[in-house]
Amino acid sequence: MNLTNLADIRALLARHDFRFSKSLGQNFLTAAWVPANIADASGADEHTGVLEVGPGIGCLTEQLAQRAGKVVSVELDERLRPVLAETLAGYENVELVFGDVLALDLPQLVAERFPGLRPVVCANLPYNVTSPLLTAFLTAGCFDTVTVMIQREVARRLCARPGTADYGALTVFVQWHAEPELLFDVPPHCFVPAPKVTSTVVRLRVRAAPPVAVQDEKLLFTVVRAAFNQRRKTLINALSAGVPGCDKARAAAAVAACGLDARVRGETLSLAQFAALSDALGSENG
Ligand code: SAM
Repeated sequence: MNLTNLADIRALLARHDFRFSKSLGQNFLTAAWVPANIADASGADEHTGVLEVGPGIGCLTEQLAQRAGKVVSVELDERLRPVLAETLAGYENVELVFGDVLALDLPQLVAERFPGLRPVVCANLPYNVTSPLLTAFLTAGCFDTVTVMIQREVARRLCARPGTADYGALTVFVQWHAEPELLFDVPPHCFVPAPKVTSTVVRLRVRAAPPVAVQDEKLLFTVVRAAFNQRRKTLINALSAGVPGCDKARAAAAVAACGLDARVRGETLSLAQFAALSDALGSENG
């Protein structure tokens, strides 16, 4: 069976009386070059343990299994259990886990399932939970790389530069934890059902340490969220509205201490400038 052939997919799913769920982000690949190229981009080899999210009918899973030492694939939809039992029957290095990947203890899973292997993530993500999934992968602190297909619009946000419309709190969070890279686009006609948007494959190389030092990482991300929650306001107004215990005078003092103009907007700040601002606010508050 060819897991990206539309006729084979329809026959398989009809036999199992399966209907696509929109709320689970079920758009399955129907172009063989896509899962092959995503698996290649993940750099999986016999020394790699791959965590896949959402195998669907297993077209990317089988490509990963052909390259990796081990694949653990987590699927939320129980209806796919008999389908995957059929399509992945020949792959001994694949372990299927049924459940919500967001409810799993990822460092524990990696320690237990991938001993001696380099842990990576590789997946065609369900787009409605992209941000929580990326947050979980990057804060787990146990993955070397994260290679995922996501909506093009979100992919551009991950890789954006300061001062552009795409630059936001998600950009800063992701670039704080990883070095993101846009790899290639995948058009809607490569999926069934076809999504409304173009997709992009990105690879995030997870950093061993943050790109710049900061005293209080929690405060840093409070500052970042405040800056982008009201991105049309000046940074001073946004900080005094969004950082607890920070009035306008404190915000103005911190902005001045960082050598920034009083009218500056948060969306123009680099990672290093956000870190400096967070440290200045931290010492102001302390
Ligand atoms: N990998 C397949 C492919 O490329 O054709 C399917 C990808 S489809 C975009 C996303 C998959 O993620 C679906 O199989 C869906 O059921 C599954 N999924 C959705 N939310 C999930 C979650 N929280 N945890 C695990 N799997 C999830």
